[in-house]
Amino acid sequence: MSRVSALYDLQQIDSRIDANFSRSSYLDQLLADTSQLDTAHQAVSEAETALVAARSRLKELESTAQNQQQHANDLEKKLYGGQIKGNKEMAAAQQEIETFRQRKKETDDRTVEAMLLLEDAEANLKSAKEKLAQTEKEVAEGQAGHRQELAQLQTELAALQSQRTKDLRMVMPPDVPVYEKLRQQKQGVAVAEVMYGKMCGKCRVELPMAKQREVKGGTTLVTCPNCGRILYHKF
Ligand SMILES: [Zn+2]
Repeated sequence: MSRVSALYDLQQIDSRIDANFSRSSYLDQLLADTSQLDTAHQAVSEAETALVAARSRLKELESTAQNQQQHANDLEKKLYGGQIKGNKEMAAAQQEIETFRQRKKETDDRTVEAMLLLEDAEANLKSAKEKLAQTEKEVAEGQAGHRQELAQLQTELAALQSQRTKDLRMVMPPDVPVYEKLRQQKQGVAVAEVMYGKMCGKCRVELPMAKQREVKGGTTLVTCPNCGRILYHKF
């Protein structure tokens, strides 16, 4: 194993560890995200509020209709029971009975509308509750999958870290800090493979002939003139 290939192997394992961390962190985020359930709960809560309002509106109209009917009946009783005397007073009472009968009719029309709205509100609540149950099921299934994958990633990580310890032993001690510093500076990738024998595999810049030759040796650390990464030539 050459000096640079040892670094390349370490880079490969570190990239896999980085990917493992990144995926785990993404899954943790998904597990913490309650927005889907929050939305479904919110819809149920709004449908419940609307249903309570529709019921109360209907009750109010029914009570109004009853009062209007009662008022007309009472007046009629007085009128025909002879408690109201005088033509003018009797005519006025008759008029009032008509007015209340008319109002009661209007209330009845509004009651029919309110009953239809109540039916809608009941149907909306039912559908919101079904949607919530469906969402709960989907979220639970999704989370079970995420937890399973997280457990698998943990197992893989342990194996990767143990492999990293072995790979690190193959690297020349003075190269370790150079490698680590480059990893920090270059988004985790310190070593770039040379492609087609002449190109930096990371930034895709063509290397000067002298560098191409030097890289093939694998005994010195040659860096890309463009991105600064350590170049590795695979045979
Ligand atoms: Zn480069």
